[in-house]
Amino acid sequence: MRHYVGGGFDTSGDPFPLVDPANGRTVGEAPAASRELVDRAVVAARRALRGPWASWSPAERSRMLHRIADGIERRFEEFVARECADTGKPRELASTVDVPRAIANFRSYADLLTGRAERSWHTPTPDGRGALNYTVHKPLGVVAVISPWNLPLLLLTWKVAPALATGNTVVAKPSELTPGTACLLAEVMAEAGVPAGVFNLVHGEGSGAAGQWLTEHPGVDAVAFTGESRTGTSIMRAAAERLAPVSFELGGKNAGLVFADADLEQAVGGTLRSAFTHSGQVCLCTERVYVQRPVFEEFTDALAAGAGTLSEYGPMISAAHRDKVLGHLAKAAADGELRAGGGAPRFGDERDGGFWVEPTVLTGLAEDHPAVREEIFGPVVHLAPFDTEEEALALANAGPYGLAATVWTGDVSRAHRVAPALDVGIAWVNTWNLRDLRTPFGGVKASGIGREGGDHSLDFFSEPMNVCVKL
Ligand code: NAD
Repeated sequence: MRHYVGGGFDTSGDPFPLVDPANGRTVGEAPAASRELVDRAVVAARRALRGPWASWSPAERSRMLHRIADGIERRFEEFVARECADTGKPRELASTVDVPRAIANFRSYADLLTGRAERSWHTPTPDGRGALNYTVHKPLGVVAVISPWNLPLLLLTWKVAPALATGNTVVAKPSELTPGTACLLAEVMAEAGVPAGVFNLVHGEGSGAAGQWLTEHPGVDAVAFTGESRTGTSIMRAAAERLAPVSFELGGKNAGLVFADADLEQAVGGTLRSAFTHSGQVCLCTERVYVQRPVFEEFTDALAAGAGTLSEYGPMISAAHRDKVLGHLAKAAADGELRAGGGAPRFGDERDGGFWVEPTVLTGLAEDHPAVREEIFGPVVHLAPFDTEEEALALANAGPYGLAATVWTGDVSRAHRVAPALDVGIAWVNTWNLRDLRTPFGGVKASGIGREGGDHSLDFFSEPMNVCVKL
């Protein structure tokens, strides 16, 4: 595990342990960046802004992004193995979602970049000769990219790719729990000929360490962050000191709405996927499901039976996170009804030292119960009945978050009525997590600030400037 600063690898700093969440064993260590190293990374990124990188055309940057994607593709198995070792997620998930999406992140911004139109206007003037107005998009400068542990490579590259596409330089700080694939990415950047200082990587914790030092650094022009909402508050406070723009993708407490007219088999299958993919450790996972009363028992029985048969799932990321999830479950089991799961599974092998939690289905909790209001970020879903469409919308829209929601219905008019009325950034109808990288991605309320994806990312990572020429 190495930092990557100014085009060179660096192992300085006190080591911190890396733990395999599948068995709880310490399997390695990574160096924590000192404040001085964070400073060097920012200085290197600033210097690179004034180097040859500044004159690279969009076509050259686009070719470079494709070379980075080629580099990940060439080392695909290594990336998959490193992601699984860090997160404990099933190989199936890393090899079909995390690593392919990282490749797609670079390729899609490479393609969008070359097709990006600059706008111009002919403006009438009293002398009849007019003026030509046009827009030039400039990079923001040095961008800090701070990413979480749940989809480490996917979420890091989701920001690094558009930041580089638009000509910025980057200092990235991945989660201290999952630094592995970011290190491989730095190697790929070096192999792809990314100029020194254009991409920098520092490791370490967030609060009182590399993450905080980076967001407070006067040489950082913008912060792109994915993680918990309350971390977003701290980062926004730090960035506010110098009015640096932020793009935030934060927590969620996503609702699913199942109407009685839905294809129930499809709704059960989709909800199993949306609640338990990566053991619920995806920001888009569904943690609350509201089911129309006539089908509530049938749906709940089928979902509980499905949860009970899931075998391909991974552990929680850490002992602390497992304890938080089990704490929620203990309280929820006392106050409501456990329909499936509810505890830590026993395997009778080394996994018993790991941080596993059973896929869990709950019913009978009040809407203000912590397990229904707070983000658990584990394999836990609560089901409650509703009667009318209005009631379903009110339940889904309650609470502090607004990231994503899923609607299951066979009525096309209802789908178009309900989906846009949800207070979220993304609403899926009869599917979950079907993503087109050109669409806007982000949340409302405590779930985020700004939109990423497609042109929205290119807009965030660049500053539009107006040039007016009198003719
Ligand atoms: P986290 O906020 O604890 O940490 C995220 C990153 O921020 C890490 O790299 C961490 O070291 C750093 N950090 C922590 N405190 C910091 C500080 N004061 N200053 C600067 N950096 C700091 O989040 P997590 O536990 O790694 O990830 C899980 C959370 O992320 C969940 O809330 C989940 O919903 C959210 N998430 C959201 C999205 C989305 O797209 N909306 C996607 C994935 C995860």
